[in-house]
Amino acid sequence: MVPLVAALAAVVGPSASGSLAKASDPREDNLPTPASVLGFEPCTDYKLATYEQITDYFGALDKASDRLQMMSIGKTSEGRDQVLGIVSTPDNLTPDNLKKYRGIAERLAHARGLTDAQAKDLAAEGKTVAWVDFGIHSTEVAPTQTAPQFAYDLVRSESAEAKSIRENVITLFNPNVNPDGTTHISKWYMDHVGGPYQDSSYPELYQKYAGHDDNRDWFMFNLQETRNQGDILWHQWYPQMVYNTHQTAAYPARIFIPPFKDPSNPNIPAEVIRGINLMGDSMTQRLDREGKVGAVSRQQYDQWWNGGLRSVPAFHNQIGLLSETAHASATPKFEDPAKFPKEFPYQGVSTSEPSAFYPSPYKGGWWHLKDSCSYIESTGWAYLNTAASDREGWLYGAYRMGKQAIEAGGNVAYVIPADQTDFATAAKMVNVLRWGDVEVEQASRAFAVGDRTYPAGSYIVREAQPFRPYVVDLLNPQNYPDRRNPDGTPERPYDMAGWTLQYQMGVDVDKVDAKIDVPSRQVTWASVPTPQMPSRTPGYAYALDPRVNDSYTAAMQLMRSGEKVTRTLEAVQTDQGTWPAGTFLVPAGRSSEVKVRGQARGLGLTVAGVATEPAKTVPVSGPRVGLYHGWGGNSDEGWTRYVLEQFKFPYAQVHDADVRAGSLAKKYDVLVLPDATYSRMLNGLREGSLPAEYTGGMTAAGVANLKKFVEEGGTLVTVNDAAQLPIQAFGDFPVTDVTEGVPSTKYYSPGSVVATQVQPTTPVTWGLPEKLDAYSSTSPAFTVTGDAGSVSTPVTYPQGNILRSGWLLGEDLIAGKAAVADVTYGKGRVVLLGTSVQHRAQAHGTYKLLFNSLLLGGER
Ligand SMILES: [Zn+2]
Repeated sequence: MVPLVAALAAVVGPSASGSLAKASDPREDNLPTPASVLGFEPCTDYKLATYEQITDYFGALDKASDRLQMMSIGKTSEGRDQVLGIVSTPDNLTPDNLKKYRGIAERLAHARGLTDAQAKDLAAEGKTVAWVDFGIHSTEVAPTQTAPQFAYDLVRSESAEAKSIRENVITLFNPNVNPDGTTHISKWYMDHVGGPYQDSSYPELYQKYAGHDDNRDWFMFNLQETRNQGDILWHQWYPQMVYNTHQTAAYPARIFIPPFKDPSNPNIPAEVIRGINLMGDSMTQRLDREGKVGAVSRQQYDQWWNGGLRSVPAFHNQIGLLSETAHASATPKFEDPAKFPKEFPYQGVSTSEPSAFYPSPYKGGWWHLKDSCSYIESTGWAYLNTAASDREGWLYGAYRMGKQAIEAGGNVAYVIPADQTDFATAAKMVNVLRWGDVEVEQASRAFAVGDRTYPAGSYIVREAQPFRPYVVDLLNPQNYPDRRNPDGTPERPYDMAGWTLQYQMGVDVDKVDAKIDVPSRQVTWASVPTPQMPSRTPGYAYALDPRVNDSYTAAMQLMRSGEKVTRTLEAVQTDQGTWPAGTFLVPAGRSSEVKVRGQARGLGLTVAGVATEPAKTVPVSGPRVGLYHGWGGNSDEGWTRYVLEQFKFPYAQVHDADVRAGSLAKKYDVLVLPDATYSRMLNGLREGSLPAEYTGGMTAAGVANLKKFVEEGGTLVTVNDAAQLPIQAFGDFPVTDVTEGVPSTKYYSPGSVVATQVQPTTPVTWGLPEKLDAYSSTSPAFTVTGDAGSVSTPVTYPQGNILRSGWLLGEDLIAGKAAVADVTYGKGRVVLLGTSVQHRAQAHGTYKLLFNSLLLGGER
């Protein structure tokens, strides 16, 4: 394994040796204080430092101390430099020793080629590698503002505890997970402090594409920031523990700290859960020793979910935990105990009487940012102290879990066949797995399992690997337990209930339990499939397969470069066999040949030749797409932008003011409403909550303009709940949502993968398979209640067995109903995409529903 990982580190990122060792060892009591650089004490009321101010401080600390080294780990989505600090002793931080300790952590984590005795020796020789981060959620300001003071104290303190931590631990001190957001939020607050909007919320996503969903990207690695940090976590340093700091404790507790509440994901090793509980208890104990009351455990945050910065480590045999401190603001607040709720939500724990997981209830009073910061720093010390005191135990534990995982894997493997139609998307999935350090092989020859033969080039993921819990969790269905509140309503999972990667991505994967013996190579990164062009210039046109997602990318780029593109209305004969309706055609010619070849090469496409012009085609031109952008930060809108940019669909953002102004048809062929309720779009943010330009929504006048846009020939595309707008507001609309107003006891799917049936011959469904997995978040289901002639329902829920992964209550309600409805309305059309078709840029399997809908507007 070593050559693979070494090669990978060389490919994907900067290495720790990029930092410079300092020549001298200045007196640590002359270190710059945070105030000397920021201009104020960190965590002072009414003050927030930007990311730039904070990194200036870390730069100054790095320069003055040889107990801290800063390194750049990549660019953010907005182009800022993202940095990471490493804190230890000067001796541990020499380039040779950093390399040595990094190597030990990696060898133990991978657990390959070691005897138990060797592993014990390495554990004795190594240092605990402990990650602590700040600022993932930029509106949760206390962690961000804590980082400079904590770093100063950790570097400077001469206490026995601090010395032991520096000696025994390599602390990966990450001052900011989301630098762009910190600067946006701090500037917004400092621009408004003292004014009427001092405590108003920032009206945009604070992470360019994801906002708060930047903590939903950790198995998918879409965002640049996730990649920068994933590289450190799972390709370079393999910390034995990861501590991720947030704000939102179950009120009125002052901080939430694990143990987490149930359910627990059965794939997480027991030793990880024990480690999380132990770490959490060390933190809460520390707080009570310091008189910091009000820490609560076993509330709100469960241990089922995969995909967050604290949860993905748990599937990598790492102790992954978070804390959630109260009061995310620099504005102080009086907490009136008379207004406290009597009980916490989970298991009805009293907020005033001591109990096992809330033994020192908070009694109220004034609360300042400094209080939150001081709680966070105390938990950080407890964490690092526990990391130091059981150094060998943590290191050897990583090895033991890895070794057990390898042994438990047996012969079970996941084969990703190279002969699937959209193999390019399969290669993308392999890279998603590789970001998480899953071992993947690519077969050099064809091989058989049972009576199925897999061609050379197929990928194999064996369960016998150190991060087997992660493999098993991502590549199998989640079976979320049916858990209810005392009143019988479903107990809401913390986040998604199911996320099975190949279901979301529409990739064929065969799980097999048989010894696969085939020559193969370890995959560092999967490259795009080998491109193929017709052997000679076709008589009529080059054809792009509509079943392949990146055919859309190619078609968009070819159109933009001036090539004429059409789509066939029926199946078409090509030199690669019969391709389905919706096949893209580009007339053959000298200019198109070069461009098509370029696209094929870049995207790994198989391009076919078509000899004669098919009878029925429809011209496609680049549609003018408007993407509705409501104020307040809608992650679904951000992810939609991300997907459109990845697949080269140009778009313009349409704001409330544009919708209110009308004349939409002059600018757009297609308008897209990302997932949002009708009421949210109509009313927007409350008047007075933000400057007037951000409040008030699209208004009834704007909704009337949308209706007019469709009546005059425009295409309106709605995603998930946004279907409410045309259904409730257009009048005489021939479709209703059968789930509208149904209580959660009767219908509930809190983020699950569900089965649908597709009629693939309609322009909305071109290129899709007949059985399609879709992502449902208690999504609408449609039935035709008006003029049936004006509606087609090309995607429907099957009559039974709808749940594929996660949790679904009330399948009877949606069985046989439509998941997609294509409605002719006036001279235009409304396409209701009833599932989260672009869900967090994970649901590659359903992207075509969005792409096809956009192209409808360009068919003229
Ligand atoms: Zn958070």
